[in-house]
Amino acid sequence: MKKNTCPICGEKAQIKPTNGSLFRIECDRCGLFLVTSIFFYGAESSNLASIAGQNKYALQGALREVSLRRKIGSTPVTIGVDSADSKEHLTVSEFLTNVIVPENPPQKIDKLFKNLELLSKGEFGKINTLTYLKDYPLAYCKDADELSWILNEMNDLGYFANFNLSNINASFVLSMKAWQRIEELKIFDSNSNQVFIACTMKPEHKHNSFAKAISRGIDSVEGFNLKAILINEKNYPETIMEKALGEIKRSRFVVVDLTWLSNSVFFEAGFCKGRGVEFIFVIKEDQWTQLGEFYTKSYLIRKYKNESELEKLIKTIIEERIS
Ligand SMILES: [Zn+2]
Repeated sequence: MKKNTCPICGEKAQIKPTNGSLFRIECDRCGLFLVTSIFFYGAESSNLASIAGQNKYALQGALREVSLRRKIGSTPVTIGVDSADSKEHLTVSEFLTNVIVPENPPQKIDKLFKNLELLSKGEFGKINTLTYLKDYPLAYCKDADELSWILNEMNDLGYFANFNLSNINASFVLSMKAWQRIEELKIFDSNSNQVFIACTMKPEHKHNSFAKAISRGIDSVEGFNLKAILINEKNYPETIMEKALGEIKRSRFVVVDLTWLSNSVFFEAGFCKGRGVEFIFVIKEDQWTQLGEFYTKSYLIRKYKNESELEKLIKTIIEERIS
């Protein structure tokens, strides 16, 4: 592989080695990310083979999206190979399990809307220009032709107020109908049978058996076919929180386990409240005193001693609320 090409798409990119034996890749198509040197030098052989086909467009889309959502100053996502339990980087499949990959044209259009909202930075009525070859990952398209087709369809659906098409790019202004769709995408689904579990999964907290107890409690609620969702928290970049927030929006309830006071769990709790998703707060009894006054005074938080008590508690609370 040439040293000035992106290890994912093979196009010319800006590449800089970092102090920690990583490579910082800035690709117009795949965005800004880091790769380990093993990934970088081996990209042509084993890694590229493993990200071929279906995964490649998903990976490009996800990297570009994460890069777009990255907060200034935060570390970009690091991709490597077979990490086992390494906290330094994610393998391609670990990275992709935490991203919602759109699979059909309507889902791709919705994803593009979300990315266009970010790109518009609160300015409405302005002209957007997408270059097919550079920007097809914004809609998780497989190539430039697919993006050009999607943009044409969006124009036919009335999503653009102005539309100018050339062989290499398309310029358009998002119509009011497009902005209405963007707002619709933010509304949660109250008919869902999904229950999201927000709890720490950090290895040092050894909390997995409690997460499983919550899941069993959810499964034991009869008659509603509830489905528990738990996202493994590894060293995912902040931006991958998007996946968790997406799942929360689709959930009927969110069980928030405040034990170990994990920052990401508090963030998810705040998000539930902001979105009006019903939440259930629990905490292990011996950690009650660690909770700040704001939580203990403002919310009903149920305490549990062990896994079996937690399982029964979750079942009881959900049954009370659902019927
Ligand atoms: Zn690239």
